Amino acid sequence: MIQKTPVIRKCVSCRITFDRNNLLKITKDHKLGIMLNQGMGRSAYICKSKKCSSDSKLKKKLQKALKSALNHDFFDIFEREIANYK
Ligand SMILES: [Zn+2]
Repeated sequence: MIQKTPVIRKCVSCRITFDRNNLLKITKDHKLGIMLNQGMGRSAYICKSKKCSSDSKLKKKLQKALKSALNHDFFDIFEREIANYK
């Protein structure tokens, strides 16, 4: 049996660390641009909570973490994703 080591990452909003599986990953892919839960490159994570996904400073925090401007297309997809969080 292969022991899987949990990957621990920090939420950009509340700064609490979580198992990677409980976080939404936002990646700035080298070729494809900003992606959710896929891609290779600089990544930022946010926990799957209503509190953090509706953080009014989240956009700034994500842009700072990714060192990249996020466009409306991304936030359209993002808002659809976080609509299910509680
Ligand atoms: Zn959080």
